[in-house]
Amino acid sequence: MTVQTDVLVIGAGAAGLMCAATAAARGRRVMVIDHAKQAGKKILISGGGRCNFTNLYLEPANYLCGNRHFVKSALAQYTQWDFIDMVVRHGIAYHERDHGQLFCDDSAKEIVKMLLAECDNGGVQLRLRTEVESVSKLDQGFAVATSIGRIQCQSLVVATGGLSMPKLGASAYGYRLAEQFGLMVLPTRAGLVPFTLQPQDKLHFEPLSGISLTATVAARRGPAFTEQLLITHRGVSGPSVLQASNYRQPGEAVSVDLLPSVDVAEALAQARQAHPKRQLQTWLSEHFPARLAETLIAYHGWQNLPLGQLNKATLEAIPAQLNRWQLKPGGDEGYRTAEVTLGGVDTDQLSSKTMECKTVPGLFFVGEVMDVTGWLGGFNFQWAWSSGYVAGQNA
Ligand code: FAD
Repeated sequence: MTVQTDVLVIGAGAAGLMCAATAAARGRRVMVIDHAKQAGKKILISGGGRCNFTNLYLEPANYLCGNRHFVKSALAQYTQWDFIDMVVRHGIAYHERDHGQLFCDDSAKEIVKMLLAECDNGGVQLRLRTEVESVSKLDQGFAVATSIGRIQCQSLVVATGGLSMPKLGASAYGYRLAEQFGLMVLPTRAGLVPFTLQPQDKLHFEPLSGISLTATVAARRGPAFTEQLLITHRGVSGPSVLQASNYRQPGEAVSVDLLPSVDVAEALAQARQAHPKRQLQTWLSEHFPARLAETLIAYHGWQNLPLGQLNKATLEAIPAQLNRWQLKPGGDEGYRTAEVTLGGVDTDQLSSKTMECKTVPGLFFVGEVMDVTGWLGGFNFQWAWSSGYVAGQNA
């Protein structure tokens, strides 16, 4: 038996549910299928269980994409304010944290409940634990063979997300489907991901795991991010590191300013004059936790002398290593812990106004499966909402 529907969405994540609810609100018959046993799994674990669902200060510049203009139309058609309206309409309490990040007061479950309620209102049929076996193009629409039977649809929306967190149901299926229809898939890699350290660096820093400080981290071809840096068992993490990871190419060093609010050369010169007998470690402990101060001396091979006795080489090395430390990570933690996937379906082949494929009418891609990646801070969900919405208006 073949089931007929107007719109079939593959993937019941953030973008798929938003697209389904929007299309259903237009009166389209919509079905959503997902191989997972639960909808919106990533939403549920996001933001430490409170879902950082959007950002007040959203700009197209907060996104990485091969075509930097691509995100503009969808983000303008469905803004953060539109999503906030929906959140308010559903009575979900939220609060703002640093940098305009909005989180639920209570639980990310409320966002999933809200999206499912919106889908329900429009009569969307949700089929979980459903595998896609094949997709073929018909004269009018598509035929999709699935583990629950054959589904025929006019519009097919691919909302299968990226590769991060395979345990939550991530798969490369969306990329394979894009390739089947002749679309280009740009190379993928983990984004918003912690760095691992090289063995010799790890020896020094692993015992400090748990220490965090405000630092500025910048990849060679990216902006500088001043936020928390956290030392972990494997390397370094925290918002400043995750943000920079989106821009770091494999093998490259990142520049780390461990004291972004201090001009170390100037502060050291002043301290030498005022307290020439103060030990270097004592001075460093005024700026860092004591254990980190001790480690920095050992790691960089500085002599722990009174400030007045430091030689020229050390006086030059300290500001360079503290304000402009060139840290070469061993690598990153990969898709296991990455929040997002960089790369994906090339946006050049999609309409930025509708997310429809230019060469295959009726085929849409939404959310993270395409080559659009946001900064940390609610930008990735906003992309899911905006791209899902515009596809839902047109599918
Ligand atoms: P997903 O939400 O990943 O949904 C894809 C869906 O497709 C899944 O349900 C999956 O099961 C299904 N699927 C995949 N393959 C198949 C297949 N072959 N057949 C059927 N179904 C399939 N972003 C923020 O903006 N704020 C945050 O606070 C935040 N926190 C995060 C925390 C973590 C730990 C992680 C991993 C990510 C976080 N993100 C956050 C990123 C955000 O979750 C994603 O960018 C967003 O979920 C992408 O939405 P999507 O709908 O494109 O993909």
